[in-house]
Amino acid sequence: MRGSNTHATNKFEQWKEHLQNTYGKNTLLSKAWLKKEWKKLQKNNATNYNDSLEKTRQDLGDCTRCNLHAKRTNIVFGEGNPHAKLMFVGEGPGEQEDIQGRPFVGRAGQLLDKIIEAMGYKREEVYIGNVVKCRPPSNRQPEPDEVAKCEPFLFRQITCIKPEIIVALGATALKCLLHTEDIKISAVRGKFMEYRGVKLMPTYHPAYLLRNPPAKKEVWEDMKKVMAKLKDPGSPLVGQVDCASAQQDK
Ligand code: SF4
Repeated sequence: MRGSNTHATNKFEQWKEHLQNTYGKNTLLSKAWLKKEWKKLQKNNATNYNDSLEKTRQDLGDCTRCNLHAKRTNIVFGEGNPHAKLMFVGEGPGEQEDIQGRPFVGRAGQLLDKIIEAMGYKREEVYIGNVVKCRPPSNRQPEPDEVAKCEPFLFRQITCIKPEIIVALGATALKCLLHTEDIKISAVRGKFMEYRGVKLMPTYHPAYLLRNPPAKKEVWEDMKKVMAKLKDPGSPLVGQVDCASAQQDK
């Protein structure tokens, strides 16, 4: 009996986590509402809640939640190994990505492929996604309200994939992930942070490397730290910073 109660509690907690991922951790879900909805799910025998990338994609649908839907050609959901240890997150799709509906497939994407291969992985062994899933017009930065609408789906992807490390590609991706303008990529790159319980390594965007090839050396230094951490998860986090002190460093 006790076992079945624990089982029910686990399912309830999984469902609550899914709601938090979908609507944001700070959304106030009243106890009464949760109880009522949970009862409905129990009545419909639908409490076996296990989220998946497929469900997340289905729920995203032909999304019109933010203004970015208006000019997109394709939603770029993300792709790769659903159990990847390593996940790369950029700010949003560019022109080629929008046309093909796949992340990082333009010139910057080809460079990212080379970085991934140099790390000893194939592209399909990692997972690649973006903070927003539709191309911002003229590649402008995503607006905070666009990030707010889209990021619950990134949260769900992270929860499903459970990566050991997320690499944030570029200043804009990092600012969107951390919800701050007050951070400088040059100050924090190469230093592990925490993001939703996952180690986050900020580094330069491959598009920046195309414009500024000498910075490839720094990105490679950052990726060496990622590789070392993936090989030995117990090793100390070299140069770890917390977000607050990183922002003060600006
Ligand atoms: S960017 Fe995200 S939230 Fe906005 S329309 Fe596209 S999929 Fe929907």
